[in-house]
Amino acid sequence: MNLADFINLSYIVASILFIIGLKMLGKQPTARRGNLLSAVGMLIALVVTLLDRQVVNFTWITVGLAVGTLLGIACHRYAKMTSMPELVALLNGFGGIASLLVGWAEFIKIRNIHHHALATALPGSETFTGIVIFLTILIGGITFTGSLYAFAKLAEWMSGKPTLFRGQHQLNAALFVLTCIAGAVAVFASSPAVTLAAFTTYLVLSLVIGWTFVMPIGGGDMPVVISLLNSLSGLAACAAGFIIGNNVLIVAGCLVGTSGVILTLIMCKAMNRTMTNVLFSGFGAAPATATADASGAIVQGELKPISAEDTFAVLEAARQVVFIPGYGMAVSQAQHQVRELAELLEQNGAEVRFAIHPVAGRMPGHMNVLLAEANVPYEQLVEMDAINPLMPGMDVAIVIGANDVVNPAATTDRASPIFGMPIIKAHEARTVICLKRGKGAGFSGIENQLFLLPNSRMLYGDAKSTLQSVVSEFKALAAAS
Ligand code: NAP
Repeated sequence: MNLADFINLSYIVASILFIIGLKMLGKQPTARRGNLLSAVGMLIALVVTLLDRQVVNFTWITVGLAVGTLLGIACHRYAKMTSMPELVALLNGFGGIASLLVGWAEFIKIRNIHHHALATALPGSETFTGIVIFLTILIGGITFTGSLYAFAKLAEWMSGKPTLFRGQHQLNAALFVLTCIAGAVAVFASSPAVTLAAFTTYLVLSLVIGWTFVMPIGGGDMPVVISLLNSLSGLAACAAGFIIGNNVLIVAGCLVGTSGVILTLIMCKAMNRTMTNVLFSGFGAAPATATADASGAIVQGELKPISAEDTFAVLEAARQVVFIPGYGMAVSQAQHQVRELAELLEQNGAEVRFAIHPVAGRMPGHMNVLLAEANVPYEQLVEMDAINPLMPGMDVAIVIGANDVVNPAATTDRASPIFGMPIIKAHEARTVICLKRGKGAGFSGIENQLFLLPNSRMLYGDAKSTLQSVVSEFKALAAAS
């Protein structure tokens, strides 16, 4: 077997590991092993690529590896679970810029070899390479600046709200047309100076479009845009794979691209929105209004606090209990206390479920990850569509740091920025106990009339410590009997 055969065979093995790993990521019990398998696939792909004789100098590769490894270790050590969406946004951006640089380098290489117009320099199948170079730069550029903008919004370095202005869509369309013209001039111009100017314009406009593309998206739509940018980073990598003729990069890019699109569509469905609506409507820019209850009537109630002792009394008598976790559970890291309370409730004869909203928290699967970490049995996790019909039969719904995903305004108030997003119908339970620290709004920044309803009680404080107090009450009862 010669080196080329060995490399291609290894790429096939790596690709198979990616596909099996991806499949295993679809189910919680196999997800960890799936992740590991994909990582092994990537290691094989990396090592084998470095064995390729086309690599003539290892100096910069070694520097890149060292910096990347150090950054990876730092992320592993210091990035909090609640900062995952920002981290994912940043990593998408790195993927985008890496592909852009590949396209850029290849463009310079071709220009240096052929000093006449690129269109004539690239006959036949190489024209395809030329087109792919420009696509790589465009998609990579959009992914890079779009992801940086999304990162700044998610990290709260700037307002998370959509930025809208008159003529925004027309400006975006004009930028796109200008980019295409610049690309065409760069390909067909015979003068090196014109080609360079057109190429530079193309490069800059690709970066600007990423920025203006994410600008009108904000609020609860950010998860959708992150997964779309993830998909774009995959497509850019796939295109870069075509440029340098690297099969494993093409396969990995395709897998990221398609799985990202699938995730984007799932997220859109979860928010009851179409992709075009998410990308172009500037949803979430409306002022906060939330005042209507589940039937659409105005709620004029007041927040009714409840103590840990009284919460214990309510729970002690309950037979059907549902936990509805949200972002606040992630902030307070209360998942272990939640599991402990769930076990005590079961010992007390209650049936316990966990209602999982697809966009609860700050990343897809956020609640599943936290509850799995606390060893909550996977069978107790119930998806939103399955739990909602059961809600009227629930004695108690315990809302742990969730807000937007249980806000009835999403189903009743047309003026609400989250109108149309399906919710977990916590308000239909007989008693709703809401754990939060104060009057803080959710991600979309609007009020929630659930907290004002007659059957709602507020258990104020950090979720971890309030849950601990309720758990202590149960334990005291067990010790006394
Ligand atoms: P949320 O609407 O962001 O509400 C979280 C609530 O938790 C806040 O009202 C806050 O109130 C409370 N909280 C914060 N820290 C707490 C603590 N230590 N202890 C107790 N409570 C605490 O959360 P959500 O209902 O999970 O909704 C998720 C939102 O994020 C949706 O709008 C979704 O679209 C968006 N989003 C989701 C993703 C994703 O992929 N899942 C990504 C980006 C954005 P206090 O301040 O009063 O405590």
